[in-house]
Amino acid sequence: MSETNGRPIVLVAMGGHAFIQRGEKGDIRDHEKNAVGICASLMTLIERDYNLVVTHGNGPQVGNLLLQNELTQDNVPSMPLDVLVANTEGFLGYVLQQALLNHLRGRQIKRYVVTMITQVLVERDDPAFQNPSKPIGPFLTQEQAEERRDRLGWKILDDAGRGWRRLVASPRPVRVVQRLMIRDSARAGHIVVACGGGGIPIVRRQADNDYEGVEAVIDKDLTSSVLAAEIGAELLIILTDVPQVYVHYGKPEQKALGAVTLEEIERLQAEGHFAKGSMGPKVEAIVNFLKAGGKRGLITSPARLADAMDGRAGTHFIGKI
Ligand code: ADP
Ligand code: MG
Repeated sequence: MSETNGRPIVLVAMGGHAFIQRGEKGDIRDHEKNAVGICASLMTLIERDYNLVVTHGNGPQVGNLLLQNELTQDNVPSMPLDVLVANTEGFLGYVLQQALLNHLRGRQIKRYVVTMITQVLVERDDPAFQNPSKPIGPFLTQEQAEERRDRLGWKILDDAGRGWRRLVASPRPVRVVQRLMIRDSARAGHIVVACGGGGIPIVRRQADNDYEGVEAVIDKDLTSSVLAAEIGAELLIILTDVPQVYVHYGKPEQKALGAVTLEEIERLQAEGHFAKGSMGPKVEAIVNFLKAGGKRGLITSPARLADAMDGRAGTHFIGKI
């Protein structure tokens, strides 16, 4: 048995956009400043005596690396997508470590922070590989896109007249390879940053069963729910840029959800209230977590987290009692 301090684990997932506010360029200062802000709100969970695991998206950051690949391909070898995801895990993990450590030091709390470069197993025969659907990287001209399709085997898409983009598969996460190390470090009281960008997608190679990276992206909300279940988290929190989840979102009859049961949320899901690619995967992630035995889920914004923990904000999801 691993060492445990007996405190419950909370897993907090945040979007890659959390590091770049609207109108910002997304340089390192922007990332650092926003990380300081978001980590300040995470301190409420430390003060409430949780063991903390943090996951995050990487959309804008991996998009920039793909653009760098495009711009420098004649001089520097381009790296495959799994490697770029690993790069963003290191980059954003460092930024989060620095911000978290400074907050802990400022409060004279003696806890450590570690980032795990995380591989996530997906099925080699996941149907997503037959039907790549996730546009990534910079907008290209038709000529550029077709050249890459022919040379590199890319799937490409004419994206609503805005230009051409590469499409990759978004397979379902099956298992987080580093789950036991993440769980044990969290149980010992260390703050763990893991599964950045949804984790590095790997498969078991057919020939010899060895692990091998694949050029795909895994939805970070779905990976977070798999990890939350695997490490026995009590609470899964998804932080985003809205304080609550709404029914009839964006319509005059829009209404915020305060607390919902699993049955209620599944009915609302079936009615189509949660947009594909944004709120949809977040709600799905929480539903999966509750079905896997999780007790509670919460969706809110960093600014409302402390109030939400007091039951005064956010959308709360209640599992089977
Ligand atoms: P993140 O980077 O945190 O993953 P997303 O943009 O993917 O953020 O998802 C959050 C967005 O989901 C919100 O900004 C909002 O516009 C959108 N959204 C779609 N449907 C809903 C809904 N029913 N309630 C609240 N937000 C919704
Ligand atoms: Mg998202």
